[in-house]
Amino acid sequence: MGKIVINKSNLFHNLDIISKKANGKDKVAVVLKDNAYGHGLLEIATLANEFGIKKAVVQTLDEAIKIEKLFEQILILAEEEIHTYSHTFHIAVNNIEQLKKLPKNTNVHLKIDTGMHRNGIAKNQLKEAIHGICRQNLNFTGLFTHHRASDILSTEFYWQRSNFSQIKQEVKEICEQLFLPLPKFHSANSSALFRIKNFDEDFARVGIATYGYLDTDTIFKNPELKPVMSLWAKKIATRVLEKGQRVGYGGVYEAPKNMITSTYDVGYGDGFLRLDGKHKYLTPKGYEILGKVSMDNLSINSEDEEVCIFDDVSKLADIHNTIRYEILATLNPNIKKEVI
Ligand SMILES: *Cc1c(COP(=O)(O)O)cnc(C)c1O
Repeated sequence: MGKIVINKSNLFHNLDIISKKANGKDKVAVVLKDNAYGHGLLEIATLANEFGIKKAVVQTLDEAIKIEKLFEQILILAEEEIHTYSHTFHIAVNNIEQLKKLPKNTNVHLKIDTGMHRNGIAKNQLKEAIHGICRQNLNFTGLFTHHRASDILSTEFYWQRSNFSQIKQEVKEICEQLFLPLPKFHSANSSALFRIKNFDEDFARVGIATYGYLDTDTIFKNPELKPVMSLWAKKIATRVLEKGQRVGYGGVYEAPKNMITSTYDVGYGDGFLRLDGKHKYLTPKGYEILGKVSMDNLSINSEDEEVCIFDDVSKLADIHNTIRYEILATLNPNIKKEVI
């Protein structure tokens, strides 16, 4: 199953760049959904707390409960119904009906659709939603939206920003009429944060940049972030592969000469997306993963006790024709974590 090593100084380096860009540690909500993008929910939550981050974003109540003590505010993105009240928890509300399912005093962040058309209430439902929040005795603590193209060079990003500004203005007016305190406004994910010149929102929801990546168009001047995770595999057995012998399923790798190879304890069953032998992949030390990756192991031209399989997932994302998020988030949550 291998192990995941978390590099604390790289994480702190990234959080430092992010907090400076956001104008303070209190303007950063670290996104910890999906097991902190494969890095380990508790491990990253504990380190983020040590760094001084006070806000977090998760998908589920279960995740929020595990890290409740480590943050002042936790935004829960995907729970329809919540029965445990906590001062720390804030629930994202995607539609007006959802308001009726929440117990009194729940903190609510209204999600507004500004153009992604995935989740959130429409602009013309704003008034009804805010009145609903008051009627149900809920706390209106936040209003947010999500960008569909903050990572792509196009005007869409500015179109959504301008929709959001108009909505903010309307919300301010509605709140004044109802004598409600203003909610916190937020829209930026990692790539949006680094695209906005003078960041002026109440906080940013930062996922991928925390972990050392930014999947944006190369035209943007991106900060020097450092990948936080490396994946290590332990040796199972060593053999000499003789010239002409072929290794693994389908025998797609053929030894060009007599060579020493070993199997290691990582496979696609651990969430390490399967290499099919058609693309050459070298580990950071220059070893080659030979042939097809199996469910629980893979072969490498090495006899080291432990091999670092990756310390940066960019090459793997290219090979698999996907984004770096996916390579990280598919890793099996049961892989042991070691913080160095
Ligand atoms: C996942 C997510 C984020 C974080 O996005 P990154 O691109 O990883 O920074 C922010 N906001 C919402 C609503 C999300 O679902």
